Amino acid sequence: MSRGGSRWGAGRPGTRVKAEYLQRVDVREWARRGHLNGAGSFSWSWHRGGEPSGSIGVWVDSQHALTLRYGFTENGEQRTVAQRVHITRTPCPYGGSRQWFACPCCARRVALLYLRGGRFACRHCQRVAHASQSEDSLARLWRKQSMIEARLGDYWRRPKGMRRRTHARLLAVVLECDRLRDEALEALIGRLFSGQT
Ligand SMILES: [Zn+2]
Repeated sequence: MSRGGSRWGAGRPGTRVKAEYLQRVDVREWARRGHLNGAGSFSWSWHRGGEPSGSIGVWVDSQHALTLRYGFTENGEQRTVAQRVHITRTPCPYGGSRQWFACPCCARRVALLYLRGGRFACRHCQRVAHASQSEDSLARLWRKQSMIEARLGDYWRRPKGMRRRTHARLLAVVLECDRLRDEALEALIGRLFSGQT
């Protein structure tokens, strides 16, 4: 499949991440605001330094998928992009469930999608984490999480024979790993922003 002239994902690991590429959407924020409860549409905008810096339209098709629509300039031409994103759920440690985006590129379960090179994808596909100064600690968190995920079922469900308390404890650790990785990434983005003005 041709990707056109945008050369998405063509950068080397370690390619400098530019602040204007880092508009992002957060599934937790949309869930908290009730945007994902049923079919419908809403618009989402970003601000930088008090000024609007972009917006997208979001069409929620069902509990399992939504479509992001946004303008994108490619080779000097304005195009409208529609990108479908699947939504998955995992159980919470103490009942209920939470939603995640499935990255449109690699299907990884993530809370955040970043807009870069004209499309939304996870931090791995957008090569954001590779530029991190603290890659060792991120890798440690990944290893820890992977070891726990290997003990859990699909979508972090409780496998047969595992006690509920054990499952709740493991889930809490996995979610904490995920949160810490997001935090490390936010810190990195903060450094890039402050170095750009
Ligand atoms: Zn991805």
